[in-house]
This record gives sequence, structure tokens and C-alpha cells, in this order.
Amino acid sequence: MRISIQSYPMHGNGMRIGSTKQYDYLIVGAGLFGAVFAREATDAGKRCLVIDRRNHIGGNVYTEEIEGIQVHKYGPHIFHTDIEVVWEYVNQFTHFNHFRYEPIANYKGELYNLPFNMNTFHQMWGVNTPEEAQSKIEEQRREIKGTPINLEEQAISLVGRDIYEKLIKEYTEKQWGRPCTELPAFIIRRLPVRFRFDNNYFNHPYQGIPIGGYTAMVEKMLEGIEVRLNTEYRAGEYEASKVVYTGPIDAYFDYRFGELEYRSLRFETEVLDMVNYQGCAGMNFTSHDIAYTRIVEHKHFEFQDGTDKTVITKEYSQDWKKGDEPYYPVNDEKNQKLFEQYKALAEDECNIIFGGRLGEYRYYDMDKVIARALEVAREELQSV
Ligand code: UDP
Repeated sequence: MRISIQSYPMHGNGMRIGSTKQYDYLIVGAGLFGAVFAREATDAGKRCLVIDRRNHIGGNVYTEEIEGIQVHKYGPHIFHTDIEVVWEYVNQFTHFNHFRYEPIANYKGELYNLPFNMNTFHQMWGVNTPEEAQSKIEEQRREIKGTPINLEEQAISLVGRDIYEKLIKEYTEKQWGRPCTELPAFIIRRLPVRFRFDNNYFNHPYQGIPIGGYTAMVEKMLEGIEVRLNTEYRAGEYEASKVVYTGPIDAYFDYRFGELEYRSLRFETEVLDMVNYQGCAGMNFTSHDIAYTRIVEHKHFEFQDGTDKTVITKEYSQDWKKGDEPYYPVNDEKNQKLFEQYKALAEDECNIIFGGRLGEYRYYDMDKVIARALEVAREELQSV
């Protein structure tokens, strides 16, 4: 592995002149939020310690090289943003390739393009023009009266029942472990619906994969900053004026009001003795009869046609229980209310900042995490 842990030179007993504490910030979690905050604070002259319970940096964007291929160890991460400052920011630490995510949906052997666009509509209904596709959807969405109140209604209202049944319903139920009628509508609005022949999964102008992997990018962000891996957070263990906590907010408060729900993932990674397994980076298996939600073939993120082997990962979604890695917050009404209780507690605490997907219990994309970390850092560093 290529992880280097730099030590920051200490003076005397390690204290900073003018500060009674050894560190200005103890940053819990070496994922994107923690790394960006640490970078900004360090550049502003603050002394930071980053700790992470895992044995690597990067959080869930971590990539590891296997057979010369950058493997996305915690699921596929495609960087995409429409926030110019975020794009400029990340480009200080890496270069991005021209990868565009164009996943294929596999429903019992039938292949469809994603996201939902003219290619999908043609494959589903044999329609050839936007007008034909629109009228097909119009016909099918009539069953939904009023504003959609859950994911099922939202999906039918966006793309009609046929696409809902084959490409959304079972996949979503596998992914979230609950019926689409019990899931919030916003989850499906993450996906574009287009009346153009355009398979780009994202609408954002800036997209790509960091050349050489995400780990190298985060390593660069953390350059010159003290990082301790395999290190659990224990309140009061390190002398720091303030804590930036990016772990689960309910865990921080010892599950005082109960556990927030998350979805967890299980990955089965295999090295195959073949050049090309599925011809695309991501294939979603949208029917119930296949237990995994998707297969990722990592070499396609970096257009590595020259290697004899390939690495694939089958991704299974599962309920989260204490001790598992949390991946997705379940932002339904019940959990959202519980989160609000924790948030109120957090607001009463001084000297701690909660951030990131787990700290803020939000279904954040990478760019939004970075934008938020930059904003929090700016506010924080201005006020001290
Ligand atoms: N989705 C679906 N079928 C697919 C892909 C996605 O129904 O083939 C739905 C599913 O409900 C999922 C949501 O769209 O939770 C958002 O998908 P996205 O790809 O944004 O999820 P992520 O990348 O965060 O795993």
C-alpha cells in the first residue's frame, strides 16, 4: 500500500506557543470532509491531528491497487460537480480523466441504458422520437394523482410504470431493504430523465476519475499533516481545542435516543483471468432473482485495456447493525426525526463540529461534502 503517514515536527513538549493545547483541531475521520478541513486549517496555520479507526485514509472513496487496477474498495465513486470552486479545489490535488459513467441495467438478461433517456425508451417501447416517448410516459403516469408522496409514485410519475417495474422497483427494494412506497421521493430524483440519446449518468459539467486513484488524491490533501490510523476516537484522549467529528452522530452520543438506521454494503471482489468481463464500469442488476445490486469492473474507470486481468466487485446491500460499516443514511421520516434530536444535542455542544455523510446524516455526494467542508472551514477559521 502506498499510504504514508507524515509526522509534523513538534516543538518542545508538542504545544503551540499561545495555545494551551497540543492541537487546535482533532479531526476524527480521514475521509473527504476530514481531509479538506484538515488541509484548510493547516494552511491557515492551525495544528491538526487526523485520526481514523480504519487502516487507511480516504474513508469510503479509498482505492487500492490490485493487478495494476485502481479498485474502488467501498463502491464506485465517480466525481461529478457543477460547483466551479470545488472542481478547482480538487484539481489542486489530482488530475481527472475523461471518464463518464454510463451504467447498464440488466433485467433478467435484457440490457437497458441508464439513466432514463431516449436509448432506454427505445429499448423499452421501441419508440424512436422524444414525442413518442413522452406520450408513452404521459399515458402511464395518469395513475398518479397529485404530488408524488413516495419513491414509487415519484418514479411512475417520472418514467411510467413499465420502467418502474423493470428498472426501479426491485433494484430499489434490494438496495434499501424496504418497499418503494416507504421510501422518500427525493432518492429517485437523483437520476436524470432525458429526452435525448444521452447515457451520461450525471448532468454536471465537470466529471471524471482521479488518475492514479482517490487514495493518492486524499494523500496529497493530507500532505504534511499528522495522521494516525487504526485509532478509535475517545473523548479527551488528545489535547485539542476543538474536535471535527465525521463519524456517525448517534454513535458520538452513545445512541442516547436510539440508533439511526443506515444501509450497509458487502463487497465480493474477484480477480479474473480475462481482459474484459462486462464491457462497462457498472452493471446494475435490477431484478430480485440476483442478490447483488451491481457489478463494478474497475479497469473501465481508467480505460485500462492493456491489462490481461480484470477485477470485478459484486455489491450486496444489507441492513446495518452495530459494528457494520454504515454507508447510506436512511432519510425517511422516522430517522429524520431522530436525527433532529441528535442535531439539537450537537448544537448544544461547544468545541465540536459534525460533518460529512455520517456526521450530518445526509445522502451527500462527494462534491457536496467538499463544498460543505470548505464552507465550515471558512466560517470556523474566520471566527478564531
Ligand atoms: N435506481 C434504480 N435503478 C437503477 C439505479 C438507481 O431504481 O438501476 C434508484 C435507486 O432507488 C437508487 C436511486 O435510484 O437508490 C439513486 O441511485 P444512485 O445511483 O444515485 O445511487 P448511489 O450512486 O448513491 O448508490
